[in-house]
Amino acid sequence: MTQDGAVERVDLRSRTLFTAAFSYRIDVANVIPPQAPGELAPATGLAEEHGWCPVDPSTFESRRVPRVHVIGDACIADAMPKSGSAAVSQARHCAAAIGALLTDSVPPATAFDSVCYAHVAPALALAFPGHFAVEDDRIVSPGPRAALPARLDRVEASRNAVAAARWYQAIRGEAFAS
Ligand SMILES: Cc1cc2nc3c(=O)[nH]c(=O)nc-3n(C[C@H](O)[C@H](O)[C@H](O)COP(=O)(O)OP(=O)(O)OC[C@H]3O[C@@H](n4cnc5c(N)ncnc54)[C@H](O)[C@@H]3O)c2cc1C
Repeated sequence: MTQDGAVERVDLRSRTLFTAAFSYRIDVANVIPPQAPGELAPATGLAEEHGWCPVDPSTFESRRVPRVHVIGDACIADAMPKSGSAAVSQARHCAAAIGALLTDSVPPATAFDSVCYAHVAPALALAFPGHFAVEDDRIVSPGPRAALPARLDRVEASRNAVAAARWYQAIRGEAFAS
């Protein structure tokens, strides 16, 4: 399929995808709808026109509604990916920042991590780590961006799979005490 833009319409009966300029008959399609936070964000005045919520990156306090903090996919976190691990890192930092705000102390220094794992086989995974900091009121990623490796290193990939399982256990334990 050529890349002539976003899918604008899907006709299930004829199995056709329509873009602005062309139509494509397809057997299988994975159509991802435009992504935006849930209705709560615009309904509460937290979101901009485009649907995402601007925040102070040092505290995740909304730039539109004081004393409300927005973390995770809904917030505009600049260079940070919209990922579960990024959301957890923001949650930890945000909780500490709220604690500091409530006690009139200085919020902790801002540093975030994220890691996304993608399994290529049950015991082999790729890992995409990221480190982030706040500079000039924006979240930036000082280091180089993690890229897909040219060749799969099986030793590293099996280490990643173990790390992914540990990460999942840890995050589940923290979130649900299980
Ligand atoms: C296919 C797919 C694969 C992914 N793979 C990875 C991965 O490998 N690693 C990774 O780190 N991330 C991955 N992600 C991203 C990750 O799932 C999200 O970044 C993460 O879930 C964001 O967490 P969140 O809490 O911000 O939002 P969500 O997980 O979307 O949680 C928001 C919750 O709020 C609830 N809600 C909405 N409106 C209301 C309301 N009015 N009242 C009460 N509740 C409400 C929703 O039902 C939902 O449960 C993936 C995402 C997708 C879609």
